[in-house]
Amino acid sequence: MLTSSLAAVVTKPHEELEIKPIPIPDLEPGAMLGRVEAATLCGTDVHAWERNLGRAPFNAYIPGHETAMVIEQMNGPRTDLLGNPLQVGERVLCAYPRCGKCYWCTVASQPSICPNGMSFGRVRCDQPPYLLGGCSEFHYLPPRSDIVKIPDEVPGALAAASACALRTVLHGFERLARTGPIEAHETVVVQGSGPVGLFAVTVARDRGARRVLVIGDPPNRLQVAEKFGADATLSLTACPDPSDRRQWVLDHTMGRGADIGVQCAVGAAIPEGLAFLRDGGRYLSIGGGGGMNLQSLNSHGFLITVRSGEGRHFYQALEFLGSRRERFPFEQMITGQYTLEGASEALRAMAEYREVKPVIYPNGKKP
Ligand SMILES: [Zn+2]
Ligand SMILES: [Zn+2]
Repeated sequence: MLTSSLAAVVTKPHEELEIKPIPIPDLEPGAMLGRVEAATLCGTDVHAWERNLGRAPFNAYIPGHETAMVIEQMNGPRTDLLGNPLQVGERVLCAYPRCGKCYWCTVASQPSICPNGMSFGRVRCDQPPYLLGGCSEFHYLPPRSDIVKIPDEVPGALAAASACALRTVLHGFERLARTGPIEAHETVVVQGSGPVGLFAVTVARDRGARRVLVIGDPPNRLQVAEKFGADATLSLTACPDPSDRRQWVLDHTMGRGADIGVQCAVGAAIPEGLAFLRDGGRYLSIGGGGGMNLQSLNSHGFLITVRSGEGRHFYQALEFLGSRRERFPFEQMITGQYTLEGASEALRAMAEYREVKPVIYPNGKKP
C-alpha cells in the first residue's frame, strides 16, 4: 500500500530543495496516480523558484510540469484523448485540467488560458491532492485533464520535454497557420535558443521554411540549433546591439526583413522582433513575456500570441517526436541527468544556462 511519495520540495524560494515524503492522496473518481518515469525542467520552473512569476503568496510546492509517467493506480475507468481505455502500466502525459465552463473554455475555444485552470509544478503540496509536480516519485493525474499515451519509440525524457516546450510551439504554429502556410520561399527568424526556440527551429524547418535564422545564447544552445537545421545563428553576447542584430536579419533577407518572426525569448524581445519583419510579415509570440509594446507593430502584419497548449498539442508533440527522430537529433536537447537529490543542482544549472534541458529521474533511470 503506497502512503507517501518522496519529492524534491521548494520550501523556501531560491533555496536548496528539501527531499521529503509527501502523502499520496485518495483518488477521487476518474483520478489516477502515476509513477514518474522522467521529469524535465524548463525556464518557468526557474522563474517560479526565483519567485519571478509575480504570484502571491508563497506555499511549498513540488517543481516540474513536464512529466512522463506510468499509470500506477486508477479510480474507475478512464480514456485517453482519442477515447481509448487506459490501463495500469501505460506510459502517459497529462495535460492541465481546465474548467470547461468559462468564456475561454467555451466561447473562445482557448482552454489553455482558462483562468480557473491549474498548472502543474507550482501548486502547494501541503493539501490534497499534494502531488502536482514532476520532481517526485509519484504524480496525481486529476480527472478532467486530457491524457495522451506515449508511443514506445519516444524515450521518457523527450516525452517529458515535449509536454511544455514542443506542445506550445505546435500550438503556436497551428495558430500561425490560420494566417496562411509557411511558404517554401519564406525566412523564419527565431528569437531565443532555449528549448522553445530549439523546437521552433525544427517545426519551422518541418513546415517548409526556406531559411531559419536563430538569435540566442549561449553557444552550446546555438550549436544544437544548427544541428536542428538552423541556417545561421547569432549570439546575443557577440552582438549586443539590437540595431546590429536587425542588420544581421536584413543581411540574410536581401534587405527586406524576415517573413515570419517567432518570439521564444523574454526581455524586450517583442519590440525587437517586430523590427526584424519585412513589411506585412507575421509574428508569433510564444509563451508570454517579451516586453510587449504594440506601438512598435507598425508594419501591417499579423501578431499571433499563444500560451501553453491543449490535449491535441500533446498528442501532436508526441507524434512529431516519434516520426521525426531520423531528421532531428532531439536527444541533443536533453543535457544533464539527475536523481531527485540533484533537483536543486538541476534548477541552478538551468538558471545559469549550463543545461539546455535537464532531466530528473525520481525513480531511477530505466535502462
Ligand atoms: Zn475554463
Ligand atoms: Zn515549461
